[in-house]
Amino acid sequence: MTTQEEIILAFKKKFGVSIVADKNRLDIDIGYNRADEEKANRYVESFLGNELSIYSNNVLKQSRLSRIVLCNDLASLGKKVAGLADLQWLGLTWFFGNQILIDVAYPLNTYARLVIHHELYHLIDSVDDFNGLYDNAWKKLNSPKFKYNADLPPDSKASAFAGFISTYSMQAVHEDKAETFAHMIVDYKGIEKLAKKDFVLKSKIRRMKELMKTFSSEFDDDFWQARAKASTAAGHW
Ligand SMILES: [Zn+2]
Repeated sequence: MTTQEEIILAFKKKFGVSIVADKNRLDIDIGYNRADEEKANRYVESFLGNELSIYSNNVLKQSRLSRIVLCNDLASLGKKVAGLADLQWLGLTWFFGNQILIDVAYPLNTYARLVIHHELYHLIDSVDDFNGLYDNAWKKLNSPKFKYNADLPPDSKASAFAGFISTYSMQAVHEDKAETFAHMIVDYKGIEKLAKKDFVLKSKIRRMKELMKTFSSEFDDDFWQARAKASTAAGHW
């Protein structure tokens, strides 16, 4: 039998990324309990590795992903979440580099795949500058009347316009980008199909390809063709 230590060591050797699965944390912003060992092992061995293999180790290095924290009962500001990105530039994890936190209690399905790529995108988005949070060029792709929840007063809610792959996309510009990217990775054909009838979404896919190509030349036409081939229906909600 392989021990957790061996699994984590093999993962580090293959991807250059550390796995932490034996900690609790209780801060105001982030809280979690130690991951169930069996679930964490299964997550690393039969799930996480496949997803990170979509990228080269160079891309992972460029994203400054240094640790993936696996846990149970992950919560952000008291709200349960499946994943979180903990960014170095926010100063919380300066010594660790960028981290991704994932709750391994969720079923290992398409949604769990989207979570990994969504969180990884936050890291990629943060590498160049703070633009991810204030990406006005991306905002301008939306209908002129649209405002994200984050840009509205607390008592009002963004309403559905064209251009969004999920309800969560309407939360804030950086969430919209992360959602669009994650769907392009997991269900490229699905998002392309929607974009045929949704010109805003179409322009976002085009913009995301440009942004990713600037981040790394590996995100070329061949990369996206491979994603189209490997598409898994992720739905649209
Ligand atoms: Zn997010």
